[in-house]
Parts: sequence; C-alpha cells; structure tokens
Amino acid sequence: MKFVSVNGGSGATTFDQVILQSIASDGGLYVPESTPRLTPEFLGKLHSQSLESIGLKITSLFLEEIPSNDLSKIIERAWNFPIPLTRLENGLYLLELFHGPTLAFKDVGARFMAEALSFFLAQHHRHITILVATSGDTGSAVAHGFFNTPHIDVFILYPSGKVSRLQEQQMTTLGGNIRALEVDGTFDDCQRLVKQALVDPDINRSRTLTSANSINLARLLPQMTYYAWGIAQWQKNFRRDNEVPMVVVPSGNFGNLTAAVYTKWIGVSINKLVAATNANDVVPQYFSTGQYAPKPSIQTLSNAMDVGNPGNFVRLQYLYKNDIEAMRNDISAVSITDQQTVEEIRRTYEHTGRIIDPHTAVGVAAARQFGLRPSIVAATAHPAKFPEVIKKAIGIEMPLPLSLKSVLKKRKQSVTIPNNYQELKHLLLS
Ligand SMILES: *Cc1c(COP(=O)(O)O)cnc(C)c1O
Repeated sequence: MKFVSVNGGSGATTFDQVILQSIASDGGLYVPESTPRLTPEFLGKLHSQSLESIGLKITSLFLEEIPSNDLSKIIERAWNFPIPLTRLENGLYLLELFHGPTLAFKDVGARFMAEALSFFLAQHHRHITILVATSGDTGSAVAHGFFNTPHIDVFILYPSGKVSRLQEQQMTTLGGNIRALEVDGTFDDCQRLVKQALVDPDINRSRTLTSANSINLARLLPQMTYYAWGIAQWQKNFRRDNEVPMVVVPSGNFGNLTAAVYTKWIGVSINKLVAATNANDVVPQYFSTGQYAPKPSIQTLSNAMDVGNPGNFVRLQYLYKNDIEAMRNDISAVSITDQQTVEEIRRTYEHTGRIIDPHTAVGVAAARQFGLRPSIVAATAHPAKFPEVIKKAIGIEMPLPLSLKSVLKKRKQSVTIPNNYQELKHLLLS
C-alpha cells in the first residue's frame, strides 16, 4: 500500500516515510492511496478471531512492507491489555478502550506507533524527534508509549491550565527523553505550532522531526483493529437476527472517528457511524448547514475533545471526495452539552450501577438520541481520570487506581513558552 497527501501535491510514498514525516511535503495529511478490502472469508469468521489475529490482518492490509512475524511482535508488545466489549443495557454496548497504561484509548495507537517506529529506526540506524500537541490525553499516551525508547526524543506541547492535574502529571513527570512544553494558549495554538515546526526547513536541517498526533497515520491505522474487534465480540456474544450495530465515537480531533469510518470501508459490518462532539460542534454544524466553519475551541467537561478545528476532518473529506451527501449516508454528527453529559453520567449510574467518564458519556448520550438500535459506543477514558466531574454528577469520590495515585506524587518538570513560533523554534534548535 502506498500513501498520498490529501492536498495532492506530493507523490505516493511508503509507510516508513509516512511514519517518519507525519505530514507530506505539501503540508497535507497522508491517507491510504486506495481502500483495501478484507476478504469475505475473513469477514465471515470475524466473530471467532482474536484481537491479535484481527490486528495482524488489518494492519498488514496497509503495512505489507513489515514482515508478518515482526508485525505480530509489534502488536503483541503494543497491546498487552484487554479491550473488552461489555453490555451497558439493552442495545447499548461499551467498547472499553481505556485499559492501557494511561487509561485512555490513545494508548492503543501511541503504543503501536512507538513499536513500529522503533522497528524502522533500528533498520535505518536513525535518531528522531517527535513533536506532539495535546489537549490532555495524547500527551500522556505518547509520553508513556515512547518513554525510554532508544533514538527518540519527545517534545509535548500542551495548553497551560487547560488540562486536568492528572493528565498534566502523566506527561510532565517522566523526564528522560520526554520534555513537556506548557504553551500560553489553546490546544489549537499548540497544534498550529507543531504543524509549523514540522515543515520548517531550518529545524529539519538539524533534526529529523515527526509528529505523534493523530495526524500521524501510524496512530490512526491501528485503531481500526479495535472497531473490528468490537464488532467481532458483539457478533459472538450479543448479535440477534441480522442486526448491524451503529458505532458511536466521542470525537474531538476526529482521528478515532476516521479510524471507525475506514473500518467500515474495508468491509466490517457497521451500520451508521455517529460522531458525538461536545459543544465544539464544527462537524455537527457542517452536517446540518453544509458550511465547514472552524471556530476557537470552547472548554468543556470532556476536555480531550475541546477542538475547534478538527485536524483529521480533511481525511474524511478526501475519502468522500467532498461529497457531503455521501458522507451523510454513512455518518451522523451530534453535539452534546455539558449539562447533558452530567445527566448521562447520572442516568447511567442510576440505571446500571456503572460509572462512565465524561467523554464516554457524550457518546452514550448521542447513542440515545438515535434510539439504541443497537449501538456500540467507544468508551474512550477511565472515569477515575475525571474525579471532579464524577463527584459533581453522582456525588461519589472515585478511588484512584494505583498507577494514577503514584503519578500525582511525582515532581512536575515542564518549560513554559509563549504562544509564538519563534520561541519553540529556538528551543528546538538549541
Ligand atoms: C482524544 C480523546 C478523544 C477524541 O479523540 P479524537 O480522535 O481526537 O477525535 C475522546 N475521548 C478521549 C478520552 C480522548 O482522550
């Protein structure tokens, strides 16, 4: 499989270049040149497959240049935690993506990327610098995924004062090859700074730069695996008649939704896809008005989705050739307020006894609007990461898992930078 830029200004390239460059030379995001398909035989026995075998099958459709036994090892090392599908209530299922080391779904993609990258770096004998902009969870997943990986330096940019204390501690206390930069601005500012650095020839002369944001396809492609695995578990344990479930994805930068859409395109049996956003509703607005109008991001309770200009949306526009009708056929988008989010956490707790985090709650609330026919919601974070919201919603002090408790005691190490590019450039050149 070759990969091309959504802007159409760079030739087709191989996956090792995609993972290393992150953004094409014309400034566009990489996408697969074509859509491969799983075979009907494999799809017919999907329900009997393991996470590893589904992962190997799907990733090798795109990464055939990695020998199959190496790809198997990458997958085994990256995904050493369970991804169960559980029933919340009739017609409503949670795909629990939060059992990795930082308790959020981004571990899945970040750990795969770290393993795949170190495979290529070992082959090429190279050293690289990873730049990543985060609204909270990406930074911690990338920090943990890449910590102590040889030949890799990591710079994490996050908006000062706009991430939770836990998220901040998770990305600022590792030290070693992980450096945290606290930006006096929003997540969108961080993302812009990273994009600017990635294409800056001065910096690229002294460092080999790449990004580990979901704009890097190496994080996004492996995420397809868990949607297929979620469908497999659903078919095995819960399917009745010929039902085909909807997949609901709490969305911010729209990487996770794009992975879900790709999973449908390669043939996995998914009904509608639902993009559930918080008050940052650029995409729901686009679906209802036809106008794509990015806005500054708004702070909400589901802060990892506070994105005013979703970076991955261009990938969907490319896939659907800018045909909004075709996109509407496959995807719906809903915006959920903070009040609805809190009400959903309360309602779910009262009806099922289960505690869901605010991001997952946005997804569950969206699923309800479609009448649960049936729906799989991507449960993107562990509720213990958001104790204040849980307390507010149901009055319960969430006990912190041990891993989070110990991180709170560690010393924060970060550098504060103003929201302008020169300062970042200076740091990267020094
Ligand atoms: C990052 C994140 C999201 C949003 O995912 P995107 O791929 O950026 O749309 C949702 N929930 C949680 C908990 C996250 O960390």
